[in-house]
Parts: sequence; C-alpha cells; structure tokens
Amino acid sequence: MASISAKPQLFKTLGSNPSRSAGARRPASIRCSTSQPPRPRRYRITLLPGDGIGPEVVSVAKDVLSIAGALEGIEFSYSELLMGGAAIDTVGVPLPEETLAKAKESDAVLLGAIGGYKWDGNAKPLKPETGLLQLRAGLGVFANLRPASVLPQLVDSSTLKKEVAEGVDLMVIRELTGGIYFGEPRGFGTNNKGEDIGFNTEIYSAFEIDRISRVAFEVARKRRCKLCSVDKANVLEASMLWRKRVNEISSEFPDVQLSHMYVDNAAMQLIRDPRQFDTIVTNNIFGDILSDEASMLTGSIGMLPSASVSGSGPGLFEPIHGSAPDIAGQDKANPLATVLSAAMLLRYGLGEENAARRIEDAVIETLNKGFRTGDIHSSGMVLVGCKRMGEEVLKSVDSQKPVSALG
Ligand code: NAD
Repeated sequence: MASISAKPQLFKTLGSNPSRSAGARRPASIRCSTSQPPRPRRYRITLLPGDGIGPEVVSVAKDVLSIAGALEGIEFSYSELLMGGAAIDTVGVPLPEETLAKAKESDAVLLGAIGGYKWDGNAKPLKPETGLLQLRAGLGVFANLRPASVLPQLVDSSTLKKEVAEGVDLMVIRELTGGIYFGEPRGFGTNNKGEDIGFNTEIYSAFEIDRISRVAFEVARKRRCKLCSVDKANVLEASMLWRKRVNEISSEFPDVQLSHMYVDNAAMQLIRDPRQFDTIVTNNIFGDILSDEASMLTGSIGMLPSASVSGSGPGLFEPIHGSAPDIAGQDKANPLATVLSAAMLLRYGLGEENAARRIEDAVIETLNKGFRTGDIHSSGMVLVGCKRMGEEVLKSVDSQKPVSALG
C-alpha cells in the first residue's frame, strides 16, 4: 500500500474543510506516543437516506461510522435531510434548497439511494433521479471513484471463473462532469441528404483532464502506485489531448507507474485478466461503461461503494445500487455497500485512513464469521437481514481496540 502523499495535499481538499473541522489529520507519532485520549476531530456529515432501502442501509452505516470514528478520537455531527422521492412527497421537489445548502456546508455527504415505482411516471423535473443530478452538479463533484474488489469470501459470486476473479482489487476513476454527455453542440437536425440526424460532442479542456488526472494519481498513490489511463487516442482528438495531458501531469507523480490503453482493449482485458489493473482513469462515457463492467466482476451489487469528489468542498459517498423497491421495508437489504461507502468517506473525504480501515476490517471479519444477506448468500452460510448484518459489523468494530490503547 502506498503511503499518503505529502505533495499537493489533494485529499485534504477532496472533501474535508479544515476551517470547518476542529482538528487536522493527526500524525501517526501522536497515536503511538501517548496513552492520553487523542484530541477529538469533529466533522459535519449530511445524511441523505432517500427512498426504498436507502433509510435502512444509511441507518446501519451511520452507526458503524460513529463507532469507528469514536475509536479514532473522531466525533461526527449529523444532519439528516430529504432527498429524492421522499422530498418530492414532502416538499414537492427532489432536491430541496435546504438539502443542497446543508450538504455544501458539511464535510461529507452520505447518500442511501433514491427512486422507486411511485415516481417513475413523473415529469423530468419531478423525478428523484433529477435531484441526484442536481446534487452532483451543486457539489461540483467531477471525479467518480468506484472500487471493485473480489473478496475471497465472495469469490463464487463472480460470474468469472474463480482463477480469473480471485484477487481482483481495482479502482475505476471516471470523469463525471465533462465529455460527450455535456458537450455542445448537441441535438437533432437534418443532413445534406435530408435525413434526420442526432449528434453530440466529445470535448475536454486541458483543465478538466489535469484535475481528474491529479485525483487519479493521488488515488493510485494510496493504492499500489499503478495507473492505467484509458482512451481512444488512435481515433479521437479529445482522447489525443487526454493522453498528452495525462503524460504531462505524470511528471508530478514520478512514483506512480503510468500506462495507457485503448478503451476497446480495456473492455476486453477487464474480463480476460482483471488482476493486471490497479487504478484506471478514464473519461465520462468510457468510465460509465467500464465502471459497470468492473463492478460486475465482483457479482454482488449489495457490496459496492462509490465516492464522487471535487477539488474542494464535500464529497458524495453512496452505494452503487439503487433503492431496490422490490425488497424495501423487508429487512432484506445488504447494508455493506453503504457501510463501505462510509469507509470511502473517511479515507477520501476526510483523510481518516485508520478509521476507514477499521470499518473495512470489520466487514471482512463479519463475512469471515459466515454472515450473509440474501444477495450474497450461499449454502453453509448464516442468512441474516439488514439489521442483523449491521449489528454484526458493529460488534466487530466495537471489539477493536481504541486508538489510545494501541501502541
Ligand atoms: P437497484 O439497484 O435498486 O436493484 C437491482 C436489483 O438488485 C434488485 O433486485 C434489488 O433488490 C437488488 N439490490 C440492490 N441493492 C441491493 C442491496 N443493497 N441488497 C440486496 N439486494 C439489492 O436497481 P433498479 O431496480 O434498476 O432501480 C430501482 C430504483 O432505484 C429506480 O427508481 C432507479 O432509478 C433507482 N436507482 C437509484 C440509484 C441511486 O440512488 N444512485 C442508482 C440506480 C438506480
């Protein structure tokens, strides 16, 4: 595991705002040098439970976050706000002004999920999904981080052969606010033969590429120091600039090994030999596709967290799954994707690596004890619901030694 960068301090600005938080990241030497309890660091967390299984899984993640934080001398204050269908029903819009304002003021945002059958027929401005897009835009999050790790305990959930899936541990970083999904001109028209056409524009500025590249190099540095940039530079001018700028930025990160791959090859390699990848960075449209492909290597949607971060201001942390209306309110949801999103919040949003590891260790221990929700259950394992799974993770975190007892 790479050490945390002392360079441009990107992760200090990727979510936490030191002026709003009582304490800064504590050097490891303090942790080991005293038996006095460390000075508490305080963070403000916005909770957006949302719809369907969202409230069930956020409730579990909040408890786990609080306990893991307390063991590291961290205090959280929470504001729970309306978002998605729940907000439409209560105040008539999917993202109330108060929700966005509070989210912007906080150190990090933890979201459950939004959406459901009830609002499927609504006009676009009144769809829960519109609120999510508004939230991402309002927070200015431009980098989406999606890890895909095949845990040994769940290797049989993958659709790939065990020998291919075993040991996969990669991170896809997708540019979220530029490229063909937003590029102008776009629209419909008529060509010179009088036929109807639809068109979009793939466009990236050097600024947009540079900032996502720096996030990617920093993340790679926190992992195994290997970054693969995926593009289509043999065909697309936007990709040619992408590759040029990524190469430029790499000079700021000489400790990270950079490679490039065309997107068609990357799609193939992810299935053929996914273990070759550590951190992948790519544009919006390629990232949309590759991050879904990578997440399915693990085969368990209820296990996959994500983070969306900006260069400053709070990050948004959420499971990749939706609101699962088919199992909502039945205590069947797997809360671990949201629990692991809370770990990402600590690591990438607040720079609290030790607390993040406590959560990840507790999840592994709980799986090692054989507890499984329905989506990841296999024979011989203990089938549990959302609440019980949460209790088991909490027990496991709670059994860890507080930081003041470590030495
Ligand atoms: P979904 O992810 O909600 O569910 C797909 C399948 O996976 C369902 O069978 C569901 O029961 C299962 N599943 C999902 N999460 C699970 C968990 N934690 N534990 C156990 N099983 C789980 O996707 P969908 O059915 O396509 O969408 C349902 C609603 O969610 C829609 O309204 C959609 O727009 C919305 N959605 C929201 C987000 C988000 O909030 N970011 C993302 C995707 C979909």
